[in-house]
Amino acid sequence: MVYKFDVKRMAEALQKGAVMMALHCEACGAPLFRYKTGRIECANCGKLYRYAPGSASVEELSKVEYNREEALSLLREIEKHLFKVEDELRMKSIIETLKKLRDELAGTG
Ligand SMILES: [Zn+2]
Repeated sequence: MVYKFDVKRMAEALQKGAVMMALHCEACGAPLFRYKTGRIECANCGKLYRYAPGSASVEELSKVEYNREEALSLLREIEKHLFKVEDELRMKSIIETLKKLRDELAGTG
């Protein structure tokens, strides 16, 4: 089977520090990318995944489930980083993610 992947989006994922995984998207067959935040995403079609419990494979994640998991991991991150004010880049990243989450939960994202 011949796939046509969005190479530009995949290159952008790599530039953002994502790592190409040996696992592939069930929907389109493109390789999945894992971000430093733990986000696993198909850079071709945008489907989100998470590690299946007790397994090295992945399962698809709905947008709602993804937002819930991201909110939980964000809260854990905030607990760890809130008082490290010298870690300015990390704080900016957390604030940006919070804004994005807020917009998505508000239905404007
Ligand atoms: Zn895909």
